[in-house]
Amino acid sequence: MSSFESLSLSKKLKSVLSELGYQKPTPIQEQSLPILLQGRDLIGQSATGSGKTAAFTLPILESFDRDIPDLQRNPILKALILCPTRELCLQVASEIRKLGKKHMGLKVLPLTGGQPLGPQIAALEKGIHIAVGTPGRICDHLRKGTLATESVKTLVLDEADRMLEMGFAEEMDFIFGRLPSERHTLLFSATFPTGIEKLSRKLQRDPVKIIIPKEPENRPNIEQRAYVAHPFEGETFEFTDRLKLVLHVLREFSPESGIIFVNFKADAVELLHELNRFHISAGALHGDLEQVDRDRVMAKFRNQSLRILIATDVAARGIDIDSVDVVINFDLPQKPDVYVHRIGRTGRAGRAGRAVSILLPRQIPKLEHLEKLTDSKINRIENVDLRSTALSDVGANLELASTMTTLFISAGRKNKMRPGDILGALTGEAGGLKGSEIGKIEIQDYFSFVAVHKSVAKRALKSLQEGRIKGRRVRAELAR
Ligand code: AMP
Repeated sequence: MSSFESLSLSKKLKSVLSELGYQKPTPIQEQSLPILLQGRDLIGQSATGSGKTAAFTLPILESFDRDIPDLQRNPILKALILCPTRELCLQVASEIRKLGKKHMGLKVLPLTGGQPLGPQIAALEKGIHIAVGTPGRICDHLRKGTLATESVKTLVLDEADRMLEMGFAEEMDFIFGRLPSERHTLLFSATFPTGIEKLSRKLQRDPVKIIIPKEPENRPNIEQRAYVAHPFEGETFEFTDRLKLVLHVLREFSPESGIIFVNFKADAVELLHELNRFHISAGALHGDLEQVDRDRVMAKFRNQSLRILIATDVAARGIDIDSVDVVINFDLPQKPDVYVHRIGRTGRAGRAGRAVSILLPRQIPKLEHLEKLTDSKINRIENVDLRSTALSDVGANLELASTMTTLFISAGRKNKMRPGDILGALTGEAGGLKGSEIGKIEIQDYFSFVAVHKSVAKRALKSLQEGRIKGRRVRAELAR
């Protein structure tokens, strides 16, 4: 199959695909769509970025045309999609909306934790067709009786292995117990531990198994390195020793964007403090943050107001970012597959990537294991000896500040805010900024972020605060 033409998809969907520029199916789509369109269950292994969202969404949309020709009048829940993280839910919901743009009246709702329940309940009361949620929040709604699932025809488990790893098994069980047994069940997972096999046996009927191996030519171009600290008697790898190595690496690469992975939340906090002390533009993402703070850090990192993101693995799961210049492992992760996941943040979309780990000589066997696992060479820089160099010297004059800063605006999509409104308020007679001084504009549900050059930040703030957007005053401030 070389195009979508030969599939039994409606004209409407085919035209959407061509408008989106999807010329031919990706391998997972090519293999799964014919099966899914026949209504069979599927267990699939396929990486994020492989197009699996469209693979499971197209059959759902196709069934809508058959089952509920008038979506507007029949807002009943037909599909439930479970994802491990909020970010992934939002990504999936946005892809579904894109594919469903010609399905008039289609209601897709992300239901995730960290968000107030009120607006979710209000949206549920009006009725929806597709829910994309984390197991925890879906469970909350089921318990409250605010989500009716008796009409669900399709259940999708996305990144099922991650959901189990994150301890959602109990919530998932509760959800499955509330679904009609007559349904279509699709399970996607990066790995197939026994837990997943069991889940499949419990939930699926004679599923077709599809495994899409990562193609060698799709292998990302990542140079992997390890900086091995100088060995000496009785050495433990103290925070300061690691910090020096990190600063050393940052000086060497001077990345525009980089992620530093840490195993412990406490290290994330301390590292952020230290990097800021050396005027490095950095933010941290870890489990203790409130959702608004996570959103803010991610928005700032995406719009390049922050050059370095420090993250724990759990907090970084599913976050939506482009390829970064470098990934630094502050510690080697406990599990080797986490290493693979981490370095996958660089070297994507055809860009050159770098992954750097800092470690002690005694961790070299671990490194060799990672080389086997990734089927690639990790270049070692041994005997890196920074013991006699003062921390203040290692970190001196690092030029890693950002030229951009982020403004927070207290209105978002729900206030009908569009990027053009913000651009309009900042440029032209109203704001006087040049287009080149404005960076990425990101509209969220209830607020927006815009990146501007630091040199014009004050002026930009003033025009936002004094002017009106869409005829009303908005609150604008420097995003912390
Ligand atoms: P996913 O793996 O679902 O996260 O999809 C990865 C990206 O590929 C998304 O941004 C989709 O919009 C895009 N995509 C999905 N299917 C196709 C296709 N057949 N051709 C081109 N792009 C696609």
